[in-house]
Amino acid sequence: MSPTIGVLALQGDVREHVAALEHEGARAVGVRRRSELDAVDALVVPGGESTTIDKLLRAFDLFQPVQQRLRDGMPAYGSCAGMILLADRILGGIEGQRTLGGVDITVRRNAFGRQVDSFETDLAIEGVEGSAEEPVHAVFIRAPWVEEVGPAATVVGRVEEGPAAGRIVAVRQGPVLVTSFHPEVTGDTRVHRLFVQIVRESR
Ligand code: GLN
Repeated sequence: MSPTIGVLALQGDVREHVAALEHEGARAVGVRRRSELDAVDALVVPGGESTTIDKLLRAFDLFQPVQQRLRDGMPAYGSCAGMILLADRILGGIEGQRTLGGVDITVRRNAFGRQVDSFETDLAIEGVEGSAEEPVHAVFIRAPWVEEVGPAATVVGRVEEGPAAGRIVAVRQGPVLVTSFHPEVTGDTRVHRLFVQIVRESR
């Protein structure tokens, strides 16, 4: 049976994730309330604005329930703002900004300096089918990077060229995957394919 994957639908690019997940054979649904969260096998936290999503998670009484599901081992995928929300530690957040946590990393918010604030580049991601030969086109929009990786997490992708070469932009910890970039805007659904695989394997 296809897994049911929720996309946190408080703010951000929800529709694009739903389309990419369905393209990869999952059932995808928006999650805005507790009952919807309870019904999904896994959750995507989309890009958008992490400070806003943090506030809305609290306003919708979803912060703790999502955090609890993550602690219980729910697979999750976060892109950009979603990566910030799934990181255990954050640098450059606003006063009082919290994260759900789940991945043993420190992210730096809005990390890429002025010149490369938003940019696109090609990179290989460990676990993403064929990406060594045919790289993933990664779109970064005021993105975070991963400044520090703890022992529980594994780096699966780095920027390969240009001024930000070497920066860590994709990490996996068990069933949780995070990327600084937005694979949902390119039409290449291989990152979502990897996540759907992770969800299937964890069931
Ligand atoms: N800069 C945003 C933040 O801090 C993230 C941008 C994005 O998700 N495209 O949440």
